[in-house]
Amino acid sequence: NTFVEIDLGDALNQNIQRCKYVKPTPVQRHAIPISLGGRDLMACAQTGSGKTAAFCFPIISGIMRGQFARPRGVRTVYPIALILSPTRELSCQAGLWVKSMHFGACNFLIYAILISSVHFDMQIHDEARKFSYQTGVKVVVAYGGAPINQQLRELERGVDILVATPGRLVDLLERARVSLQMVRYLALDEADRMLDMGFEPQIRKIVEQMDMPPPGLRQTMLFSATFPKEIQRLASDFLSNYIFLAV
Ligand code: AMP
Repeated sequence: NTFVEIDLGDALNQNIQRCKYVKPTPVQRHAIPISLGGRDLMACAQTGSGKTAAFCFPIISGIMRGQFARPRGVRTVYPIALILSPTRELSCQAGLWVKSMHFGACNFLIYAILISSVHFDMQIHDEARKFSYQTGVKVVVAYGGAPINQQLRELERGVDILVATPGRLVDLLERARVSLQMVRYLALDEADRMLDMGFEPQIRKIVEQMDMPPPGLRQTMLFSATFPKEIQRLASDFLSNYIFLAV
């Protein structure tokens, strides 16, 4: 089947065409209908499987069609969807680590690898923006390792989907610049990697703040390449009545 057959809405379908996606990948083919149907989802997905679109499409489509209260605080913004992703911070931490060691000539090669991983890691942010083009859905990204001021200025202009790394988001919550009280869609991208990086306390702190929608009103998607005990525990704590998808 094709994306047009999945009823995602005109504006989003046009963006999908612009991206030259014709056929959904296996994870998309199964995950998108499950999420559009309102169920929580835990999905096994490697990088390269098309998982970014698998969680972005239902979120964008849901926000385009939904009637969501959009309160604006004086300085606080209320995203409707939150995408937590490890990405940038890993690259930056690794960068500092390499800097503190002296590998001599090897440094050049290691930096080249790191730069390409930073570049790659930005894809989720770029993709979410491409997918939401002219849908009226506003995406803002906030990742660690970059100056916070520009991210604050962007947030001030409003946000529907916040793509964030856990550490930077905790910082924004502590500054009361973001409130998670209106979050209806939560996507955890590369959950195993976030745990490997030691972000479990931050992730739990973040999810605890989403207490306004009673469980069941918030829809949660957890994507991970592996399923150790810690991930299973996260799933049982954060997801309700979920479907497990392994493709
Ligand atoms: P991801 O696993 O989300 O990092 O996606 C891997 C790559 O596949 C990205 O460059 C996407 O733009 C691309 N991609 C995702 N879904 C599709 C699709 N249905 N058709 C063609 N390319 C896709």
